[in-house]
Amino acid sequence: MSFALEIESLTKSYSSGLLALDAVSLNVQAGDFFALLGPNGAGKSTLISIICSLVRKDSGKVKIFGHDIDTHFSEAKQALGVVPQEFNFNAFEKVRDILINQAGYYGMVRSEAGDRADHYLEKLGLWDKRDQASRFLSGGMKRRLMIARALVHSPKLLVLDEPTAGVDIELRRTMWDFVREINESGTTIILTTHYLEEAENLCRNVAIIRQGQIIERSAMKSLLSTVKKETFILDLDRDISQLGEVVPFEFASAGDHCIEVSIEQGQSLNTYFTELERNNVKVLSMRNKVNRLEELFVDMVGNGGKQ
Ligand code: ADP
Repeated sequence: MSFALEIESLTKSYSSGLLALDAVSLNVQAGDFFALLGPNGAGKSTLISIICSLVRKDSGKVKIFGHDIDTHFSEAKQALGVVPQEFNFNAFEKVRDILINQAGYYGMVRSEAGDRADHYLEKLGLWDKRDQASRFLSGGMKRRLMIARALVHSPKLLVLDEPTAGVDIELRRTMWDFVREINESGTTIILTTHYLEEAENLCRNVAIIRQGQIIERSAMKSLLSTVKKETFILDLDRDISQLGEVVPFEFASAGDHCIEVSIEQGQSLNTYFTELERNNVKVLSMRNKVNRLEELFVDMVGNGGKQ
């Protein structure tokens, strides 16, 4: 089995004395789409910054596609692309030049760099903006430029740190499609996100970190199968004020025409539908109150983890 990332006993404390990472060990398989989740302050950014050699670790080992970041820094760097949370390109540099210069930084000759820059400008919908200074881009475009820049040297491992923070729903979905495509074409992806729905939709494996320690590491599917309770919101065709008198189940009000029901694992929603139908109440629509991963997450890390 080959690994995109191998982390062994990684420890980091800041000068304040705070232990941000406490002997973290974690492997991510080549080709995986991996979620690194945890509440604020859990240590995610510290972990990513160490992988990128932006923060110095106290002890432990990190390998990227087998290249030790201490002993084989340039090979490790070549294999890695990172999209950090904050925009960090030169606001006065033109969009296309940002990509070309980044490719040059990784040793690519200029003609090849131009081709690759153009490829990603098109892919990420930035072609029309290629000759503009990056400061004229919208927030969503800047985010896409960050992704293009991280990909321009064809890294085998792409780390996305909160890629859709503050991005509107439409763009978020376009970005999901794009990163899925990147992953399908062979790039390993590690994603940190506040949107648990995003992790649930995209990622095959997941690690949850809390107070500098990995508290869960499993396949997304098997983690989700441990969800004990799901809460649904049912949108009904009538006012619910009299409903409590006629249906024999418990529910909470979620608005004039909406009720909230919780079902345990293995229980079916049919009972609710049957009872409602018996009373001539139609269910117009139904949705999960929170996604399944969120139910689990809140259980595991407490409400402080509700991000
Ligand atoms: P996350 O990305 O999961 O929110 P971080 O890695 O940013 O977590 O932070 C982990 C812990 O380390 C937090 O308690 C945070 O306050 C602390 N921390 C992060 N960066 C620094 C720093 N430069 N100096 C001191 N403490 C820091």
